[in-house]
Amino acid sequence: MWPNDECILEEFNFFIKEKLGKDAIAIFIDNPILSNKDIKEIEYFLNQKGKGVPIDYILNESSFYRDSFYVDNRVLIPRPETEILVDFINNLKLKPESKIIDAGVGSGCIGISIAKYNPDLNVYGADYSYDALTVAQINKKKLRVENFYLINTNWLNSFNKKTFDLIVSNPPYISKSDPHLEDLKHEPYDALVSGTEGLENFKLITNQALEVLKDDGLLCFEHGYDQSESIKEIMMMNNFKDIRTIFDNQSLPRITLGKI
Ligand code: GLN
Repeated sequence: MWPNDECILEEFNFFIKEKLGKDAIAIFIDNPILSNKDIKEIEYFLNQKGKGVPIDYILNESSFYRDSFYVDNRVLIPRPETEILVDFINNLKLKPESKIIDAGVGSGCIGISIAKYNPDLNVYGADYSYDALTVAQINKKKLRVENFYLINTNWLNSFNKKTFDLIVSNPPYISKSDPHLEDLKHEPYDALVSGTEGLENFKLITNQALEVLKDDGLLCFEHGYDQSESIKEIMMMNNFKDIRTIFDNQSLPRITLGKI
């Protein structure tokens, strides 16, 4: 039952360490008698891997920013690009008591990573999906973050005018016809896809942001590598100013922000 694919072998080693607290190489060399429970865990791993399930879902764990988040197939696996977005916001040094909303909170990785390292801010996480909110709530507890509040709403629908100092969102932005979807078949479709162009959610959120942002408030999007020009245009059409784009570690335009 030993995996022979090199990439799986690396994940297998990791899995054995995490789940069984053992060293896979030592097991291989010493060939000890494994308990039934250990054998079941190994079989489960190989079975899931055989179906192409990502390791983070198998382990129910994902490293993001400075913490480890609970994940399952109700939410997207946090992406390394998103850490740049969190880092950028955490370096803004916002005024104490500022209100931030993570629109489309998913696992909570963005909102929680802001709230945890800025205990004087009030961070809200909104999602229309109860499944996502359930996972975000697990992470709020797991990481013991007090200043993070979950809300069930469709984007920014249920908020009063001029409520937030900053809106951050990594909304679904893949077009229905994008061939990459095949590689993402284990992740929730609704968290990935937005209409035919992938831009619908950006248009909607930008429009709603006009109402709910305070004067001088900031709107901050993470988006696809080829969407920055379209998003700048959407922001410009809605009279946002100081619009700029931040690049990811592969020098791709990944974050676009603007002020109201
Ligand atoms: N904000 C969450 C994340 O970045 C969810 C994103 C999504 O579901 N599109 O992981």
